[in-house]
Amino acid sequence: MSSNETQGGAGAAFQTWMCLICGWVYDEAAGAPDEGIAPGTRWNDVPMNWTCPECGARKDDFEMTVI
Ligand SMILES: [Zn+2]
Repeated sequence: MSSNETQGGAGAAFQTWMCLICGWVYDEAAGAPDEGIAPGTRWNDVPMNWTCPECGARKDDFEMTVI
């Protein structure tokens, strides 16, 4: 059971999210310490009221991106 990583597994790879407005990138592995988001914070765990530090866009304006 412990070897089956599916949804929300702790071993899932970190992802990056990019602001569609200004291009600012949120890296789950790095977090956003200056914004109060600890490194390793999943996008799903980022508060809904959090906004882009560059342009103020909401989470809805971010899109998952693969680097
Ligand atoms: Zn932005």
